[in-house]
Amino acid sequence: MYLAELRTRCFRNLVDTDLSFPPEGIALVGANAQGKSNLLEAIYYLEILRSFRGAADRELVRFGEEVFRVSGRVRTGRDDEPFEGDRIERTVAAAWQRTGSRKKVTLDDQEPGRLADGVGHVGAVLFTPSDLALVNEGPSERRRFLNILLSLNEEGYLAALQRYRQVLSQRNAALREGRDPALARAWDPLLVREGARILACRGRWIESFASEFTRIHGLISGGGEAAMTFEPSLGEIPAPPWEESRVAEAYAAALEASRDREERQRTTVVGPHRDELALSLAGSDGDMEARSYGSGGQRRSLALTLRLLEAETIRRRKDREPLLLMDDVFAELDEDRSDRLMAFLDRTAVGQVILTAPRKGEVRMRRGELEVWGIEEGKVRR
Ligand code: ATP
Ligand code: MG
Repeated sequence: MYLAELRTRCFRNLVDTDLSFPPEGIALVGANAQGKSNLLEAIYYLEILRSFRGAADRELVRFGEEVFRVSGRVRTGRDDEPFEGDRIERTVAAAWQRTGSRKKVTLDDQEPGRLADGVGHVGAVLFTPSDLALVNEGPSERRRFLNILLSLNEEGYLAALQRYRQVLSQRNAALREGRDPALARAWDPLLVREGARILACRGRWIESFASEFTRIHGLISGGGEAAMTFEPSLGEIPAPPWEESRVAEAYAAALEASRDREERQRTTVVGPHRDELALSLAGSDGDMEARSYGSGGQRRSLALTLRLLEAETIRRRKDREPLLLMDDVFAELDEDRSDRLMAFLDRTAVGQVILTAPRKGEVRMRRGELEVWGIEEGKVRR
């Protein structure tokens, strides 16, 4: 997919823009604090309908303004016809207003039934230096990674996740009050139904991408061996292929078995909200947890690998080449690693790339053939 046009109004420090991007992409070069990440934030907003930095919508409105708007025209083409051939065009637009805190999203001028139906229509993958948190932080960061990836790529995942969270919070409230255990248990059928859907989606994704994880990691790390494995909080899950009804049985049994623990802790102790996507590195004494034992460079390679898998997911699920957004990614890597990453991307990612860098010298993707644009005080210059 590629972003043909982007309009922003009162978004962060960006001077109102109407940009047309070349299908192969651009490199956006500018000093610190000029608006490079803001531009990527605006583009990725159209994919996830919120800030990738976790900022609240009100922080995205330019200081002193009332409403921000972002809209993009996306063209899609099949992988084997990178920049020509038939195109489907789609306009994704989002606006947010301070008064009443109102968000409006449209796809080709139509409001989707639910906000959840509005995500994932750009087909973009974003790489940022803060991706390191995917490896460095606790399991909740990796669950968030799975949740976003699957929400964007699996029908029904986001809706199930939203319902699961609602049910979970009701159930936990009942456990906290701790009067009649039956009040908490009344939520179990719903919890199990939504939880099983989430678990099955996660399980299938991890299973189908585990060997790809090891392969891609080996390529970009220069031979390092690593693994990605699913550690669901339920423990044993019936054998693949992650059939939802079997997962539901296992979840119901695990809830049953956790009664004592949850009454003591007054919270739900098993379920997708406690899953772990474990990342490990092969060492001389067996596998070691990347978060505790990996070097800085090793952890960075693992985080990059997760993003590259996200791109691969879009290729497989949507049969489209993803748009790659890369925020200052190469600056963080040593020369060998960035050479390998670039070689890998030049081979596999044939679609549009929009990357940012503080210095022109750092732009070597596509053998330096990307158009270089500048940005100063929020104004983009071709
Ligand atoms: P770096 O190279 O340091 O990452 P950058 O070019 O990516 O810099 P941005 O993160 O895009 O910089 O931020 C640019 C500027 O945007 C910041 O100086 C910040 O003060 C400003 N800014 C952030 N939010 C708003 C807003 N709501 N309205 C106006 N300006 C804002
Ligand atoms: Mg930045």
